[in-house]
Amino acid sequence: MKDPLKITSTSIDTTQTRQLTGSCLCAGVAYLINGPVRNVVNCYCSQCRKTSGHYVAATRINKDHLTLTSEETLSWFECLPNIFRGFCNSCGGNLFWDNKNASNNEISIMAGTLDSPTQLKTVENIHTEDASDYCKIADIEAVKNTEN
Ligand SMILES: [Zn+2]
Ligand SMILES: [Zn+2]
Repeated sequence: MKDPLKITSTSIDTTQTRQLTGSCLCAGVAYLINGPVRNVVNCYCSQCRKTSGHYVAATRINKDHLTLTSEETLSWFECLPNIFRGFCNSCGGNLFWDNKNASNNEISIMAGTLDSPTQLKTVENIHTEDASDYCKIADIEAVKNTEN
């Protein structure tokens, strides 16, 4: 079984600590980040497609550096054994991906929920083989080339 968002060569940039804030659309889920943050990885797997409506762009941090400032409407969906997707049960925003099987203490955060500017870059596309037929690989690569 695939392990979406995990198979990536990109790791958290521990040389720089960042303070970022983020939320879902209705702000029922809001958070603060204070620590090193990974650059953005796009995941085209079928699970990310089904939950996001297209593909997911995610950053990643150590859980110790994440503070939930509002979790009023936060729900978790177990998409694979012991792997959870955090979303807002009010506005439907897709926020977190948490693999509790992993030995590291990291969590993926959907980059679009971060308040802008993030000063992050999109650095990698993963599971492009699972992209739907309307989604052309050339377009995916174009995204990658503009954002690098
Ligand atoms: Zn919401
Ligand atoms: Zn995925």
